[in-house]
Amino acid sequence: MNKNEIIKAQAVVIKTTGSRYTLRTGDGGILECGIKGKFRQAGIRSTNPVVVGDHVSFELHPGHETGTIISISERKNFIVRKSSKLSKYSQIIAANIDQALLIVSLTSPETHIEFIDRFLVAAEAYRIPVKLVFNKIDLYSKDKIQKMNELDSIYSKVGYPSLKVSAKENLNMADVKNCVKGKINLFSGNSGVGKSTLINKLDPALNITTSEISDYHKTGKHTTTFAEMHELHFGGYIIDTPGIKGFGMVHMEKNEIYHFFPEIFKIAQKCKYYNCKHINEPDCAIINAVEEGEISVSRYQSYRNLYLDEDSKYR
Ligand code: GDP
Ligand code: ZN
Repeated sequence: MNKNEIIKAQAVVIKTTGSRYTLRTGDGGILECGIKGKFRQAGIRSTNPVVVGDHVSFELHPGHETGTIISISERKNFIVRKSSKLSKYSQIIAANIDQALLIVSLTSPETHIEFIDRFLVAAEAYRIPVKLVFNKIDLYSKDKIQKMNELDSIYSKVGYPSLKVSAKENLNMADVKNCVKGKINLFSGNSGVGKSTLINKLDPALNITTSEISDYHKTGKHTTTFAEMHELHFGGYIIDTPGIKGFGMVHMEKNEIYHFFPEIFKIAQKCKYYNCKHINEPDCAIINAVEEGEISVSRYQSYRNLYLDEDSKYR
């Protein structure tokens, strides 16, 4: 290549701090960049134009060490946190996430089923595929193993496959590795389920913050959170969102909650009433399906609770 030529190429944003961006280029190089011009994406007012996970094109002028981001490709998905409760602006935390791994445990501590379902609803709204990872299987009693297998069958049937592992005892960790390899992954889960342990076992070189920090809503302070993508030595990334447990909830109307339960959404057009709430309406295809065992009772219960919970943390 001519030394005096402007280089134009594609890259992925792996880190942002204020107005500086770290890019990973196609050949595996790392480049610091600034941005030029305005970046707007339809449908969202965001305080930050370029985020971790964005595919961008950049230019690098001869003799310069830092490049300039000149355009962003359309995002296949993104996760946000509201800049403040009243603000119309949202802070996009990361984009183009291939999958979320929800780490759960059936003991010490036990992950509640409703927590799982709430997470899945948010992931559906963000269009992020989810896999469940049952961790700490070394601690499970016979009953817990049975429970895990039941949950596995409920969730895999509706589109969320699961892995069964022990990070501590190195059981089935190869499954996790194969699952995350080559992808952009978000790790979530309630605290104590073993996210840090799992990530460290996958790649001991990573330095990931999985613990939650106090929520800025409580302090009333605006905090800006920068996500970072950590490259796995065997290929792929883990997105680290310091201070954020999984992802924030999406605003949704009560009447659209069922859209995010795939098995409910799939048959809802069979309900007698087009505006059926699937709560107590006659000839509701969903209620019938629950009675016939086609939709799991616990999934339906989570739907009901979300629907009926006026103060749902969700909305
Ligand atoms: P995090 O809050 O999700 O990041 O959880 P940590 O990774 O900090 O793990 C919480 C506790 O669970 C620690 O004491 C870990 O040693 C323990 N732990 C993590 N994974 C396993 C596992 O597979 N089996 C057992 N028995 N303990 C585990
Ligand atoms: Zn219905």
